[in-house]
Amino acid sequence: MLRAFRFGLIAIVLLAIIWGIASLPGTVRVDTGGYQFAAAVPVAILLLLLLDIVIIVLINLFRAVLRTPRNLADRRAASRRDAGETAAVRALSALASGDTQAARGHAKTAQRHAPDSPISLYVAGEAARQAGDHAAADQHFATLAQHKHGGFLGWRGLVQHHAGQNDADSQSLAAAHVRRAAQAHPGSPWLREARVRLATARGDYAEAARLATDKAEIGALAIMAARQASDPTLAIDWAREAVRATPASPPAYLALAAAHQRAGFPRAWHQARARAALRAGWHAAPHPDIAAAFLNDIAAPLERARAAQTLAGLNPNDPESEKLLAETARAARLDGEAQRHQVGADRAGTRFVCSNCQAETPEWRHDCPRCGTIGSLVWTGRTPVTGPMLPSPRPVDASA
Ligand SMILES: [Zn+2]
Repeated sequence: MLRAFRFGLIAIVLLAIIWGIASLPGTVRVDTGGYQFAAAVPVAILLLLLLDIVIIVLINLFRAVLRTPRNLADRRAASRRDAGETAAVRALSALASGDTQAARGHAKTAQRHAPDSPISLYVAGEAARQAGDHAAADQHFATLAQHKHGGFLGWRGLVQHHAGQNDADSQSLAAAHVRRAAQAHPGSPWLREARVRLATARGDYAEAARLATDKAEIGALAIMAARQASDPTLAIDWAREAVRATPASPPAYLALAAAHQRAGFPRAWHQARARAALRAGWHAAPHPDIAAAFLNDIAAPLERARAAQTLAGLNPNDPESEKLLAETARAARLDGEAQRHQVGADRAGTRFVCSNCQAETPEWRHDCPRCGTIGSLVWTGRTPVTGPMLPSPRPVDASA
C-alpha cells in the first residue's frame, strides 16, 4: 500500500518536471565558427541528456576493453587455484586412507597448481613424511611454518616428523622445533603434550612433570623425577607432588618414603617421615611393596606379624591388608590366624593394569608398556580410597 503510494507520488513529480520542461519558452542558439544550431529549449535539454548517455556508454566500453587481459589472467589463476584445491583434497583423502603413493601423486599436482598455498605445502609435507622422504618433509613443513595462517600446521609437521625418528639428532631437532613452535603459538595444548612426550623420551622427568597438566601424568612423572633427583630435598618435593597429584598411587608413597630414607640430617626425623609416608600409603593405596618397605627393618617373624597388624589396622577391610596379615601370620606359624585372613587375601591385587588399553604388568612404570600412555597404570584389586593422611605438603619449587 505504502509502496504504491510512493510510486504514484514519484510518477506525479516526474510528470510535473517533464510537463515543466516541455512548456519552457524560448530557443537555444549555438553559433560556432560558421555552423549554426537552433532548437527549442525542451529539445535542447533532451539532446543534452542523450549526449550524456552516449558519453557514459563510450567510457564504460573503453574500460571493459582495457580490463580484458586482467580478467582473463584472474580467471586462469582461479581455475589453477581450484585445480590445486581439488588435488589437495584428494591428497588428504589418500593420506586418511593410508595410500601414501596416491597421496604423493595428488600432492605433486596440488603443488604444481598452487605451490605457495598452505594446504598444498601441508599435503606435500605429510605425504613425504609418511613415505619416509625426510628431506622433502622437512623442506615443505619448514616453508609452511613461516606461513601467516598455516604456521601451526608446519610446526606440528616438523615436530611429528622429527619425533617419529628414534635417533638422538632427530629427537633434539624435534625438541628445538617444539620450543620455537611454542614461542610462535603459546598456549597450544598439542604442543604442551608434545613437549611432555619429548622430555619424557629423553629422560628429563622433572621438565616433563612441570609441563604436564593431567593429574595422572603429573603423578607418574613426579615419581620418576623424585627417583632421578640427586638432591634428597628435591626428591622429597617431587615425591610430595606425586602424592598430591595421584593420592591413589602406591609408587608415589613409596617414592616419598624412599626420598626421606635417602635424606640425611636430621636422620630420626626423616625416618619418622618415611614411616608416616608408608602408613599414609597403606591407608590410601595399599600395595605389597609398601608393606615390604614398612617391615624391612624387622627380622623376627612374630614382630613382623605384629607390625603388619599395625599397618593393616589403617585399612582393615582391604584385601591387601588381609593378604599381608595372612602372609606374616603364616611366617610366624600362627596358622589359625593365617587361615582366617586367607579368605579375603584372595581378592588382593596382583598386577598393574593400563586404564587406556588394559595391558597388564607386574611392575609399575611411568608409561604403559603397550600403548605408551603416561600415568595410566593402576594397581588392580584396590578398594576406593578417601585420600591421603599426609600433613599438608610443601609446594614444589618450580625453578629448581
Ligand atoms: Zn596402555
